[in-house]
Amino acid sequence: MKLSPSLRSEISWVVAGFIGVLLIGFALGAPAIGVVIYLACYVAWLLLRMNALVSWLSAGAKPSEAPPTTGLSDEIVQLVHREKKYSRKQKNRYRSTLAQFNSLASDLPDATVVLSEDHEIRWSNAAALNLLNIHPDRDKGQRIDNLIRIPEFREFLHSEEGAEELEIPGPVAHEKVLAVRKVRTGKHMKVLIAADITQRVQVREMRKVFVADVSHELRTPLTVIRGYLEMLRDDSNMDEETLNSLDQITVQSDRMRGIVEDLLQLSKLEGNLLGKSEGTVVNVSNMIESMIAPLNEISADHQITIQVDPSLQLMGSESELYSAFNNLLTNAVRYTDPGTKIQVVWDTDHEGSPRYSVSDNGPGIEARHLSRLSERFYRVDASRSRDAGGTGLGLAIVKHAAQRHGGVLNISSTPGTGSVFTITFPASRSVTYDSAANQ
Ligand code: ADP
Repeated sequence: MKLSPSLRSEISWVVAGFIGVLLIGFALGAPAIGVVIYLACYVAWLLLRMNALVSWLSAGAKPSEAPPTTGLSDEIVQLVHREKKYSRKQKNRYRSTLAQFNSLASDLPDATVVLSEDHEIRWSNAAALNLLNIHPDRDKGQRIDNLIRIPEFREFLHSEEGAEELEIPGPVAHEKVLAVRKVRTGKHMKVLIAADITQRVQVREMRKVFVADVSHELRTPLTVIRGYLEMLRDDSNMDEETLNSLDQITVQSDRMRGIVEDLLQLSKLEGNLLGKSEGTVVNVSNMIESMIAPLNEISADHQITIQVDPSLQLMGSESELYSAFNNLLTNAVRYTDPGTKIQVVWDTDHEGSPRYSVSDNGPGIEARHLSRLSERFYRVDASRSRDAGGTGLGLAIVKHAAQRHGGVLNISSTPGTGSVFTITFPASRSVTYDSAANQ
């Protein structure tokens, strides 16, 4: 063990004092009494020093009030001074970091609210006042769902699963649209972030209306062209070459009509969620059966098997679900070779969520395409898609129809092995056979 210099010096002068007292004691003929008195004085002096140190430490250890010290206690005082200086520096550093963070968070353009597990407001920034009317001091400790009284918001706040983002009308200015997101931090806190997306929504609406208007306007002339084409083809005086040209025009005008119809359908599906009261109880098993027969026209010896749970039904829009389910099935037939095995499954996953999936052991799709497949007009092989009669909008329709029902489209595929397209719906949309019969 290494002795500190102050302890060493204290030991040496105590020993020197001891020897001195012993010598004087011998000279006076009472060395023992001298030693006892010396030790008693030393212990008393030590205790007084300790007492002074303890009182100084408990009073906050101010450097100006440090007790007079020597030896070991002097070293203790110096160490306390050093520690205090260091912790003061650390405190200042933390304080300035905290101030920087606070000013940064306060200046964020998005409303940011830190919530407890019970959705009580712990902290909010300046934008939260402007966008959500949440005051950083006045509303601290209040439950946020008592301040923002929108049922969808309450549901969004309490749900652990479901949509990542919710659009709500601004509580301060109703013409504004806010996108609210929630992020879980640690075990007992949530951060709510609300951004003003009014402009984004306006642009989205304009694009939707424009696409719907254009598609609608194109529908009528295309119907007229189709009518005249049929009339011309009925003309028996037509030579072979002209008939071939007319066939080509018919095929192309049909494609155009397909695109127009798909665009119209897509613009209807986009954006808005299907309300709980909208839609009916859909018998998905019957729907799947009805989709199989018409496939014979495009199927080239595909081996289609179905595995359905007939008691499982779904609350939703029959036409939209048909369109989504049928798109996946016709794709599996169109984009795979004769003899391919296709399996259609309608069941629930391990969490009780209804699930529709179409899998095939066809050519599969390379990983780089997967995330883009449901974009409008994205095709892996454009010429094959056109030859197969695809519009490039099929999977976009599937994705949006699924989203309207609170569902998610998942695609997994391995080149050379096959593909699986799955739509998973929230468990709350499922209706079992018995309850459906009671409706
Ligand atoms: P389209 O309307 O042209 O069929 P989709 O959006 O439905 O377009 O599909 C996009 C692309 O995904 C298709 O062009 C096709 O290349 C690919 N695809 C879709 N389903 C399958 C499948 N089961 N196997 C292989 N490729 C597929």
